[in-house]
Amino acid sequence: MDKLTTEQRHKNMAAIRSKDTKPELIVRKGLWKRGFRYRLNHKRLPGHPDLVLRKYRTCIFINGCFWHGHLVDSKTMESSVCCKIPTTNRDFWVAKIRRNKERDKEEQRKLAEMGWHCITVWECELKPSKREETLDSIAFTLNHIWLQDHGAKRVPYPKVDEESENYLKAAEEEI
Ligand SMILES: [Zn+2]
Repeated sequence: MDKLTTEQRHKNMAAIRSKDTKPELIVRKGLWKRGFRYRLNHKRLPGHPDLVLRKYRTCIFINGCFWHGHLVDSKTMESSVCCKIPTTNRDFWVAKIRRNKERDKEEQRKLAEMGWHCITVWECELKPSKREETLDSIAFTLNHIWLQDHGAKRVPYPKVDEESENYLKAAEEEI
């Protein structure tokens, strides 16, 4: 039974869209509260990371579990607890989600090559019961990364070639 008028449906769709930005807000607020500072949506870096923490040389991606196929094996593409692949038009969804997963992997590989660390935060890790634990764990990881990069000399600093340095400079000028 579908009693929604067109107007109501539009309102619902708008609500869903704005809700989609919520996970990012949770991470932003949580990290800010813990003393971390960041830039948003870095357009010049591969994958346009949601948050960029230069001091930690870290990009953070906040991923929706469905679109990015959380816990879905790229080979079998079976549904997971997080990502139920629709049975209608399954081939279409499988191809779409697989492409997203491949793109995510490729972008993070490029970032790593440029000397960036990447942290992926999944939407499911931000539900109220897990939220604080997840944010604490991101903070812990960031501090760990900083110590690795600046503390222990024996840990080699990620290699950055000249080209990506220029790339980064260009990105910095844009900020
Ligand atoms: Zn998930």
